[in-house]
Amino acid sequence: MKNQYLSYDEGTKLLKNLSDKFPDILQVKSIGKTHENRDIVLATLSFDIENESTKPALLFTGTIHAREWIGHELCLKFITYILNNFDTNPQIKEYLKRSTLYMVPCLNPDGFEYSRKHFSFWRKNRKKNKDGSYGVDLNRNFSIGFVKTSQMSSNVYGGEEAFSEPETKAIKEFVDTHNNITIALDYHSQGNVFFPAHKFRHEQEIDGTDLNTICANMSEKIHKVTGRNYGIHRGKPPAKLISGSGREYYYSKGIKAIVVEVGTKNIPDYMKVMSSSINENIPALLEAFKETINYSSLAPKRVDSFTIQCVEETFLKLRWDYELRNDIYFEIYRNTKDKASCEIQNIVGITKEHTFKDIELESATTYYYTIRAVNKQTNLRSPFAPVVKVKTGLEKDEFSKMLFALKNETGYVGENMNETNRSHFGNNSLFVGINKTKGICNALICYDTSSIPKNAIIKKARLHLYPMNRVAAKIERFGEWNLSLLDNDDINDVADFAQVENAPCIQVIGDAIKSQSLTQGIWNYWEFSSYQCSLLQKELIKNKAVFRVDGPKTLPYGEDSQMMQFDIGYGNYGGGLHYRPMLEIKYTIPSQKIEIEPNIAESISQNLKKSQFESGYNKDGNKIYGHLEYDLSTLPSSCTTVITRAYIELSNQTVYTKSKGISFYLELLDNDIILSYEDIKNRERVEYIGYEIRDVDLKKREKHYFIFDTLSKLSLENIHANSKRLEIIIKPTSTQSNVKNRIVKWGIKPKLIIEYINRRKTPVSKVTNLTNKIDKGRIKLSWKNPKDEDFIGVYVVRNSFHPPKNFMDGVKIYGGKDDYTYDTFGSLDKEKYYSVFTYDNVPNYSEPEILHFVP
Ligand SMILES: [Zn+2]
Repeated sequence: MKNQYLSYDEGTKLLKNLSDKFPDILQVKSIGKTHENRDIVLATLSFDIENESTKPALLFTGTIHAREWIGHELCLKFITYILNNFDTNPQIKEYLKRSTLYMVPCLNPDGFEYSRKHFSFWRKNRKKNKDGSYGVDLNRNFSIGFVKTSQMSSNVYGGEEAFSEPETKAIKEFVDTHNNITIALDYHSQGNVFFPAHKFRHEQEIDGTDLNTICANMSEKIHKVTGRNYGIHRGKPPAKLISGSGREYYYSKGIKAIVVEVGTKNIPDYMKVMSSSINENIPALLEAFKETINYSSLAPKRVDSFTIQCVEETFLKLRWDYELRNDIYFEIYRNTKDKASCEIQNIVGITKEHTFKDIELESATTYYYTIRAVNKQTNLRSPFAPVVKVKTGLEKDEFSKMLFALKNETGYVGENMNETNRSHFGNNSLFVGINKTKGICNALICYDTSSIPKNAIIKKARLHLYPMNRVAAKIERFGEWNLSLLDNDDINDVADFAQVENAPCIQVIGDAIKSQSLTQGIWNYWEFSSYQCSLLQKELIKNKAVFRVDGPKTLPYGEDSQMMQFDIGYGNYGGGLHYRPMLEIKYTIPSQKIEIEPNIAESISQNLKKSQFESGYNKDGNKIYGHLEYDLSTLPSSCTTVITRAYIELSNQTVYTKSKGISFYLELLDNDIILSYEDIKNRERVEYIGYEIRDVDLKKREKHYFIFDTLSKLSLENIHANSKRLEIIIKPTSTQSNVKNRIVKWGIKPKLIIEYINRRKTPVSKVTNLTNKIDKGRIKLSWKNPKDEDFIGVYVVRNSFHPPKNFMDGVKIYGGKDDYTYDTFGSLDKEKYYSVFTYDNVPNYSEPEILHFVP
């Protein structure tokens, strides 16, 4: 069989033949006629086909844009696949039993044929307009946000009025009379990206996580087949939103509606590229078909009020509301990237409780959680709760910084644009790659690192960049995008292309993004290895870190563009603070060390209460205990002293050649006061420091080290905080009975060595008087900052669904010292929550001050 695109007639004939062969599963009919009198064909697939409309359904629409041939082709291949496999694949069987597929391979047959036969880049239908030009862009002819223009010859002319065209009228009529449709996928090309619906607002709807997850799970299936990563993009302010699209119409009917942009060209090489796009999208379509029923009225309802109960450095607790039901349990999903898939491998908890504790997390790391209710009997799953985003706390000795790219030193430079390069800085998106007009383009991203101490030891670093648009990366599997750390001394003019292009790189950071992994709408980060962290550390002395992002530098013959666009977060095209290139650094600082000599080093025995410093068994077989007392007042203030390491160095003066099975333990008395010999002897609660030494070890080494574990370090900090003294007992034990005359004399002044860093332990106070008002059409928040010399600033986040309990749990609105901010992109007519967190230089974040915005 010829391996090439099918025509409209061939496709229609194929469906007819298949429905003759499988009449119980496949029905083919026309839902309308075009201007040129072609049928708009609908294929319905379901077991028990006369009841198709009573089951939850997936709607597929293809090739509404004439030149985007993937829709038509994929649809026919998918139907063929289903019919060839349902009998052997129990999953397909199950899906067809419980749900229905409505498939319109080609919503624009006239335009498609015109594109095939006369002009491959034709987009619209073939209506004859009043001005003599041809065609209406059918995907601008639906009613939601319809815009009437007189530019009839425009490629995006939306028609005289909404639904003026027979094609859109037909699909509207079908959708309006089929309220069993739960998911609608509209196939276009190109961009390898999913565009979920969004009601023209930039705050997510309650089903925003559902839409993202349907896309992410489909994307996961695609990745499995070809290794490609698809983006997931809602578009964001102030980018112009499209008017009158089918997707928004379907969404307005309560359907989860998604545009799928396939491939990197409208009409790619069939055998190499198109077939690959088809192969990867078949399992993705099956995934969407599987989920169709979970968004119907048969599925359990969504979990309410999913939120954070508490967050520590290595664990956190989540909680939620749900009616008490014996047939329901919950699946909790965790990811470390946004818009990631939620499948079996991402489940971290299954429980029937309404709380969940997630453990063994990494400190200062961002996690994304969502949850589904599952019905035990039907196995159906609920929609997802809105994602909760949380950053875990810092370990006691850690600091972190989130640095945002410097406005005037962050931009892109193009080979052929030396005149205008300067104007891109702090203004235009970061274009990286190559095209015919701009030539080679590199981005330069600079950070001021002066807030990080010069002696910092960087434990972890990530550079985050938001990919805005990959449509201009048009060549399959060609080129990669790299992040390099540069030497600041090599660049004296950021806008000089030659300097940026030729600057030697200290090190390429993390993994390259290959062209097939370029996405849009999903944050990308480059993770520094430990070695790369150490190189970044060396640059701290210059108070600046400079990075270059570069891409492919040549184009194959006949190609015009392989360009990627990242957000800069500044200027008219940027999405604001939330989308600025961010360098996230976790670090510690070198410890200081003090040595403390004991003010008491003695022994306590039954008859002779105090004597020189020794322990063991006396001539009567009674135990003699060593006793040490240290004064901690030479340590700095306990509020800002974190003990990183502590140990006692003990030496022995006595040596025995023959063992009597004796071990010596160091026991911390933890705020207890020694009362008498009997008290020590009968004391039950023990907190050992380090490990015991045995009498045989005494001759091996002269010095013995007893290292404080985490609990005993905490006790030590507590003793210091309460201005008490550290009391230690050296206790002998033996495996032999009747041990006598075995006394070890210890060195006179065993040192307590404490290593510590200066670091504030608790956050500064919360803000007060948080209020809002509407100012010039925007929401303005004001508050009062605490008066505390350690106060560094506030962090303001917005969440449309629940009060943010963590400073990462929402959209970042503001970070800094001011006592007010505007929410530029917040809708005035939508309920939401704002949280304001104060922070110090660690940073320790305060509890949130929360404002509930009610329109
Ligand atoms: Zn399109």
